[in-house]
Amino acid sequence: MKIMQCDFLALAAPGVRTLQPYQPGKPESELRREYGLTDIIKLASNENPLGPSPRAVAAIQEHLKELARYPDGNGFELKTALAARLGVPMAGITLGKGSNDVLELVARAFLTPQDEAVFSEYAFAVYPIVTQAAGAIARVARANASGHPMPYGHNLENMRALIGERARVVFIANPNNPTGTWLSPQALAGFLDSVPPWVLVVVDEAYREYMDPADLPDTIAWLEQFPNLIVTRTFSKAYGLAGLRVGYGVSHPQVADLLNRVRQPFNVSNLALAGALASLDDDDYLQQTRALNERGMARLRAACDALDLNCLPSAGNFLCIDMQRPGQQVFTALLARGVIVRPVGNYNLPQFLRVSVGTEQENERFIQALAEVLADWS
Ligand SMILES: *Cc1c(COP(=O)(O)O)cnc(C)c1O
Repeated sequence: MKIMQCDFLALAAPGVRTLQPYQPGKPESELRREYGLTDIIKLASNENPLGPSPRAVAAIQEHLKELARYPDGNGFELKTALAARLGVPMAGITLGKGSNDVLELVARAFLTPQDEAVFSEYAFAVYPIVTQAAGAIARVARANASGHPMPYGHNLENMRALIGERARVVFIANPNNPTGTWLSPQALAGFLDSVPPWVLVVVDEAYREYMDPADLPDTIAWLEQFPNLIVTRTFSKAYGLAGLRVGYGVSHPQVADLLNRVRQPFNVSNLALAGALASLDDDDYLQQTRALNERGMARLRAACDALDLNCLPSAGNFLCIDMQRPGQQVFTALLARGVIVRPVGNYNLPQFLRVSVGTEQENERFIQALAEVLADWS
C-alpha cells in the first residue's frame, strides 16, 4: 500500500491554519496525575464554588431515564421560562451548549472572509477564535492604559473607531474576562447609539449576576431600541452549571432565526435543559452565590493589599492580580502546593494571574500558598 505524505496543515482552511486553540484552566485530575498531589483546589475557571443549585441536581436525576432519547431540539420549556423571566418573545432566544456556542453561531451566521469583527485587546479569548475560524478579519482595539481607572478595560472610543465598512460584528464582554473590568450603562448605551444598525453588537454578560446593581445595564430592554444588539448569558458561572454546558442569546427574532439555522439540532442535552430550567428561578441560591462572592472578593483584595500586590477592578467572580514577576512562574510554584489558578500570558498579561473566588477555605488556602511562594522569592 502506498502511504502518501500529506501536509494537512496546508489543506486546512486559512483561518484554521494559524488558529491558537483556547487554553482552558488546568483540570484537577491533570495536576493529580502530574504531581501525584491529592489535596488540590482549583480557582482557575471562574466556576461557582457552591456547586450547582440543589434544584438542578434533583431535576437532572429525574431526567436521567431520558438519556436514550434525543433532547427537545427547540428547548421549548427552557425558552418559555426564559422568555417569561426576561419579558421577551421566545422567538428571540437562541440556546447554546454554553454561551460560547452562541458566540460561535454569531460568527458562523454573520462573518465571511470579507468581513471584520471588532473587539478589544485583553477581551475574552473566544472572540478571536470564532472570528478566525470563520476566516474573517479581527480588528483589535487598544484597551485602556494601565493608569486608567479601568486599567486594560475595553475602550469604546477606540472600538468605535475600528468599525468601518466591512465590520459586521462587535464583541463586548461586560464585565470582561480575564480583566474583570466593566462598562457603565451610559457608556454602553452611547456606544450602541453610535454604531451603524447593520453592525451586530454582542454584549457578553457571562458574569452579569455578580455585578453591582448600580452598574447593571438593562440590555434586554435596549433590544427594542437597538435591534442589532445580541445579549449572551450563561448558566456556567453564577448558576453553577459549567459542566452541563448551557447558555443563551437574546436578540431580534430575525437574528435568532439566523443563529438557529446554523445551530446543531440537538446542541443542548436533555439534562442541560432540565438543570437550567430548574435553577432559573432559584433566587436563594443566586443570593447565596453573590454573598459568598462578595465576601471572598473582599478577602482576596485585602490579602493582595497585605502582600503589596495590585489587582484590577473586577465586577465578576475572579480577580486579576499583578504579580510583579512572570505570572507563569508563580502559577507553577502554586501548582506544587496544589493550588490551580490561571496564568494569562496568552492574553498578553504575562505579569498577571487570574484567581477565581472560591469558598472561604479555598481562598485562605490560596492566600497562604501565595504568601509562601512570594516569601520564597525574596
Ligand atoms: C465563561 C465565559 C463565557 C461562557 O462560557 P460558557 O460556559 O460557554 O457559557 C462567556 N464569556 C465570557 C467572558 C466568559 O468568561
